[in-house]
Amino acid sequence: VASHSLLRVEGLDAWYGESHVLHGLGFEVRDGEVVTLLGRNGAGKTTTLRAIIGILRQREGSIQFAGHEIIRASSDAIARLGIGYCPEERGIFASLSVRENLLLPPVIRPGGLSLDQIFALFPNLRERVDSQGTKLSGGEQQMLAIARILRTGARLLLLDEPTEGLAPVIIKQIGRTIHELKRQGFTIVLVEQNFRFAAQLADRHYIVEQGRVVDMIENAVLDRNIDKLHAYLGV
Ligand code: ATP
Repeated sequence: VASHSLLRVEGLDAWYGESHVLHGLGFEVRDGEVVTLLGRNGAGKTTTLRAIIGILRQREGSIQFAGHEIIRASSDAIARLGIGYCPEERGIFASLSVRENLLLPPVIRPGGLSLDQIFALFPNLRERVDSQGTKLSGGEQQMLAIARILRTGARLLLLDEPTEGLAPVIIKQIGRTIHELKRQGFTIVLVEQNFRFAAQLADRHYIVEQGRVVDMIENAVLDRNIDKLHAYLGV
């Protein structure tokens, strides 16, 4: 298992100023897997993604990606190794068109998808290519945010609550797209509150509580563990 893991996080601590938020958090993701981080609000899921991508600089422990130790690396260097981050707030440039939003981030590694490949995955975006960011629906913005990191050549995608605030029909569409990305060989870490959505996509679920991973549940046995999961999530 170890030799195939694309991302391995061990003993990760992270701070916002004086506030110590992650406490020895660990998990791993094998090449080609979809793994979720599940947990209550404030458990530390977003912070984990921000520490991995290096936006949060106050971090200690070990983060290995594709054989590189990246705990001391800059966010630029981490992105160039092939990790893409899609934040919960999506970060679409409102005054730019869909095409401009897609073309703005540089292609940093070989293997980035072409606009045609992106439009094959997101047909809605092809129709909206000249629309301004402000004119897009929440679902279209989310698709654009994911599409944008595919162009850079990232092969590990960190997606923070892509279903947040979206209608069920759009959530289904995003689910199909994530499934297709997995089929194409992308590796995905998904932060989710919506575990029904997560259950349709993920190979494994890591439960995050108070800055630690406290449990791991294989998706294949999720049904048998649903009471336990409810207790963790407080639903
Ligand atoms: P949510 O779904 O609410 O985003 P989460 O599991 O992603 O939950 P985090 O956002 O990682 O949780 O937050 C973990 C802890 O860190 C919380 O106690 C939160 O209040 C704190 N925190 C988050 N961002 C900051 C910040 N910029 N400065 C200080 N504390 C922060």
